[in-house]
Amino acid sequence: MTRVAVAGFFHETNCFSPIPGDLDAFLRPATLPGLTLGDDIVTRLDGMNVPVTGAMRVLAEAGHTVMPIAWASAVPCGRVTKDAFETIAGMIVDGVNVAGIAGGFRPDGVYLDLHGAMVAEHLDDPELELIRRLRARLGPDVPVVASFDLHANLSPARVAALDGLAMFRSYPHLDMARTGARAARLLLRCLAGERFAVGFRQLPFLVPLHAQATGEGGPASGLYAAARELETAPGMVGAELALGFPPADVAHCGPSIVTLGTLGADTEAAADALERVALAAESQFSRPLPEATKAVRLALAASGRPVVIADTQDNPGAGGTGDGVGLLRALLDARAPDAVLALLHDPQAARQAHALGTGATARFLLGAHSGAVPERPVEAEFTVDALTDGRIIAQGPMYRGNRWEIGLTALLRHSGVRVLVAERRLQAADTAVLRHAGIEPEQHAIIVLKSSVHFRAEYEAIASSIIVAAAPGLHMADLRAYPYQKLRPGLRRMPQGSPP
Ligand SMILES: [Zn+2]
Repeated sequence: MTRVAVAGFFHETNCFSPIPGDLDAFLRPATLPGLTLGDDIVTRLDGMNVPVTGAMRVLAEAGHTVMPIAWASAVPCGRVTKDAFETIAGMIVDGVNVAGIAGGFRPDGVYLDLHGAMVAEHLDDPELELIRRLRARLGPDVPVVASFDLHANLSPARVAALDGLAMFRSYPHLDMARTGARAARLLLRCLAGERFAVGFRQLPFLVPLHAQATGEGGPASGLYAAARELETAPGMVGAELALGFPPADVAHCGPSIVTLGTLGADTEAAADALERVALAAESQFSRPLPEATKAVRLALAASGRPVVIADTQDNPGAGGTGDGVGLLRALLDARAPDAVLALLHDPQAARQAHALGTGATARFLLGAHSGAVPERPVEAEFTVDALTDGRIIAQGPMYRGNRWEIGLTALLRHSGVRVLVAERRLQAADTAVLRHAGIEPEQHAIIVLKSSVHFRAEYEAIASSIIVAAAPGLHMADLRAYPYQKLRPGLRRMPQGSPP
């Protein structure tokens, strides 16, 4: 009987965020379950659109014994602390070993659910370190296959250390479980004795998140279509693309291409072909954004409803602190008659609202408490329209079934401007965030979401138009604003053709 060890360690690191990726961030994340061990991985993640569930299903259906070891993820933030990395990586490496001993022999293969853009305090490529430690424990013959997020920053050494990999192909990430399943199918082939030829290229430019959406019409959709075409060539097994996570200040930051084929297949030529398509599309990735005041003006002038404004620079899903008030201030200054903003991270305001009770009106100092960007809090009278315990069950196609706990939550209103404030940070990408507080997004003129692209999974069907805005925040849309130290020489910080 074949035994496959399964583990996950998922973190997207914004090196410019002051919020540490400490052990508590992995034990108590606001979104997915915290650090989970053994068979609890199967039960706690059951039905969720996450890679490990897709992988475990494929492995079990193939008749293999799945040995779940440890799985952890945190809301994106600053570098993973040495303590958190060593604790969780230690659990995975020791767990694989112990499971092997308990089962009488070591596992025959390993599947890893990784993000691909993790940076630790003491390691620029901690995922490579994890793979190396597993290899040292298991020997070179046990195949190790990983799935990665579309925002992975892949290094040549990490790709070379794996027997195979698969990456999300959709942003919003609708295909997380499908990607895990695809990685598991590569592992099945490895377990049957097959090995793959691999081509790898790193592109010479960074792409800001808001320009990475894979929906119809964008440059990314053309790239992924070209990859699908290449995969059909004889001998090809996969053509994978990562668009990268720019705020990770490491040498291997940025988009990359991985081509997989049977031994002898020309994966180098396939990688060259895909690289040519990407280079030809570079200038199309340049998408300048309006600042907050202009974005609100555009939204107020639009005819349909709702207009969705994406607050991409304060997106907690990309390491933003979630307490930025640039768009809130712009809505109030413009006296927007009917607007809703979600989700402002402000524990103090949430607690103040709960102490006051529904219907009360009081002076609030909202947001800008982290000091992440030089902003003043918004000071105004707000009425408490609704209070919740912050327990949300996501409904949309990307997050369906996810259970989120964002702590005490309050819907505050100043004239026509409503703002949802909560004790914990969350990217407000699923409509359940608004609906759980009694807001039906279809019924309002302007919806502001602290999200870059994931909101599109649900809101593209609802919104009459979408405006991506550049309000103050730590997740910069113009990457030239970051004080990078470690990018590799020659890497362009913005796509060619971006305005100066
Ligand atoms: Zn991602």
